[in-house]
Amino acid sequence: MTTWIFGPCSAESREQVMETAGAISAVCGRTPFIFRAGVWKPRTSPRTFQGAGEQGLEWLKEVKRTYGVETATEVATPEHVAAAVNAGIDYLWIGARTSANPLAVQALADALTAQRSGSHLEAIQQPKAVLIKNPVNADADLWLGNIERLEKTGIPVMAVHRGCNHLPCWKMAHIVRTLRPDIPMLLDPSHMSGDAARVPELMAKIAELNLNGSMVEVHTRPDTALSDAKQQITPRQLQECIEKILNFTRDVHKTELNWLRAEIDELDDALWDTIAARMDVSRRIGEWKKANGVTPLQPKRFEQIRSQRMEWAKQNGLDAELIAQVMEAIHKESLKQQE
Ligand code: PEP
Ligand code: MN
Repeated sequence: MTTWIFGPCSAESREQVMETAGAISAVCGRTPFIFRAGVWKPRTSPRTFQGAGEQGLEWLKEVKRTYGVETATEVATPEHVAAAVNAGIDYLWIGARTSANPLAVQALADALTAQRSGSHLEAIQQPKAVLIKNPVNADADLWLGNIERLEKTGIPVMAVHRGCNHLPCWKMAHIVRTLRPDIPMLLDPSHMSGDAARVPELMAKIAELNLNGSMVEVHTRPDTALSDAKQQITPRQLQECIEKILNFTRDVHKTELNWLRAEIDELDDALWDTIAARMDVSRRIGEWKKANGVTPLQPKRFEQIRSQRMEWAKQNGLDAELIAQVMEAIHKESLKQQE
């Protein structure tokens, strides 16, 4: 079973919520999905939209009645848990900022347990699952600890991988996936990239890494969105993503290799970004040298950084020949940039 969670970053108004839910229902057809919308928004600045609050829960209730879909919202305090559960919200997610604080997660776990023991058999009001996003910092142990805290509530737990600072952090997710293969893991390509244009390519990772579904931010007019405007896709773009992903075949034999490739591709991105940034500094050094009558080639300086790096290579078990070749190539290009 693949879990699909689609909806806007924030519930902005009754009209926006209903319109978006209707548009997503239309593109999903018979593919079941959970409708998401945040009503309490953990925003960086207090001067931006903070969410509609409890009235947003009423809009989610209306979505459920009108379109017959399950609903999800973010909880960050025990009061949010009580309000969301009492409003019949089916899935609760804990956001990346809350996930960075174990005391906050424990308080939510305690609230879920209290809610559970307070409910009567005839009218059980409890979420179908609680979803825990990875913390904003790439800390696999903290994410694993949060999963454990939430499991004690007896409510099913799912993990949502949303990256850190718009980097995918595949290594962290790979660790969690390996240690807890029993916990479903969903991908959040919207927060992972922060860029609507990159969402479709990231969706392919669901099949490649054999993940259990996805949470995607969808808005009928992303450019007018009150939060996360750059990363929300339209229902039409969502339709293209779903069509593609439903046609993917999962080659589970290659899943582990694909995880390792995701890790290495991310390292390569960082490596090339660093080389590009290094060339930029190198050009600026070239300008300074020109202005001050210094020649680009400074053999003493190069010899100094080369020998330091050789020592470092020895300590880190890296092949000296490889380091020498790479340094030579980078230095040659730097000199070219400075001439
Ligand atoms: C969200 O899903 O809208 C959200 C705030 O996510 P995150 O906690 O991953 O930033
Ligand atoms: Mn968001």
